[in-house]
Amino acid sequence: MWHAVRRQQAVTCADQYRKTRNMAQLSAETRIENEAIRSMMERLSADHRDYEIETGRDNHWEFKTYYGSLHAVLERHDSVMIRVLADDETNLSYMKMAVAGHVAEYLGTTEGIRWQGDGMDSGTPIFFREITVLSSTRISPHMQRLRFRADNLERFVHGGLHIRILLPPSGRKPVWPTMGSDGLVVWPTGTDALVVRVYTIRAINAAEGWLDVDFVLHAGDSTPAATFAEKARPGDVIGMFGPGGGDVPEGRNLLLLGDDTALPAIGRILDRLTPATQATVYLEVDGPADAIPLAEHENITVNWLYRNGCEPGMAGLLPQALRALEPSNLPPDVYVWAGCEFSDFKEIRKIVRKDWGLKRDRQLIVSYWRRGVQGEDGTEHDE
Ligand SMILES: Cc1cc2nc3c(=O)[nH]c(=O)nc-3n(C[C@H](O)[C@H](O)[C@H](O)COP(=O)(O)OP(=O)(O)OC[C@H]3O[C@@H](n4cnc5c(N)ncnc54)[C@H](O)[C@@H]3O)c2cc1C
Repeated sequence: MWHAVRRQQAVTCADQYRKTRNMAQLSAETRIENEAIRSMMERLSADHRDYEIETGRDNHWEFKTYYGSLHAVLERHDSVMIRVLADDETNLSYMKMAVAGHVAEYLGTTEGIRWQGDGMDSGTPIFFREITVLSSTRISPHMQRLRFRADNLERFVHGGLHIRILLPPSGRKPVWPTMGSDGLVVWPTGTDALVVRVYTIRAINAAEGWLDVDFVLHAGDSTPAATFAEKARPGDVIGMFGPGGGDVPEGRNLLLLGDDTALPAIGRILDRLTPATQATVYLEVDGPADAIPLAEHENITVNWLYRNGCEPGMAGLLPQALRALEPSNLPPDVYVWAGCEFSDFKEIRKIVRKDWGLKRDRQLIVSYWRRGVQGEDGTEHDE
């Protein structure tokens, strides 16, 4: 479900995993029977090499992701037993969803998936919250901050900076998604269909029951999320899925790059920086009035880059700033984190990966939006 996954150490079975991690684990399993099951597993393995753990055994597969692990054993030519493990119910749900999503994609059906074990298989998804607008503030010419009230926010404080907001059709009582027994979300359709967009939790206080989301007010003919933010009034209700999509990057030397859409993520990363971590930041916004104040410490250097009226996604200031850096002057352990428009994303990835030769585990470069494309169709990640 969420892009940011990373390789962790190998595990061989649920019990051993519990022992090595010395913490409670949740698990669920399902048998899937289909004539094409072996080729589905081979395809899964080919598509997820970065997360696969070598088992040394035929017909056994293991994958380790940021959210949990997956173990599969081919029992017969047409039957596989899949077990997923995770630290909590949210992550277990994400793992089940990932399995069901792949099965649906490869086999064209999730018929036959019946999860046994921990976690729920119907009702409201564990990672869903209804959130209500408390206040709306224009914090810069192009940024609207909405503060939402919600119950039970503890799980949104950690385990990912991002959320999906679910916007109901205006003027209708929202119909929220439910969980299917296969582990996939069942979405409302027709006149109840929701618009889904990815945003960042800029700040959160679970004890007081609120979270802030900063929305860029951008141009465009149909811009459901930006329009919602601009018009939002206290009492308006929307939905939220999450958290997910990667946490504060680890490392002692961070190079953070972003346009306005990544300003909330970079702001939150800087708020949570330890004094031992040095952060050099490049942020592209329209002009000085959009330079929202960020955390100030000796270990943080912020460089604002101004488009000065040039259209968002067209100025290329972020790749330009990277090219001006001398790679040999960068700390050897530098970690590059970037979030921006698709063309800049491609250019930054090229510089970091090809020109600088930085290893994949020292970069997270994500396209947050794409000119002319709506919602997540415009986004792409790269690790
Ligand atoms: C992990 C992640 C975190 C994100 N966090 C935030 C966040 O905290 N705050 C935030 O504002 N955005 C954030 N974004 C970006 C946001 O999801 C997109 O900008 C989204 O497309 C906006 O939805 P919309 O309904 O307003 O416009 P859409 O319906 O998606 O798009 C309509 C038109 O507007 C254009 N468009 C979309 N975004 C922009 C933009 N920023 N500037 C100019 N044109 C644009 C599109 O190309 C399209 O032509 C994040 C994206 C990702 C992947």
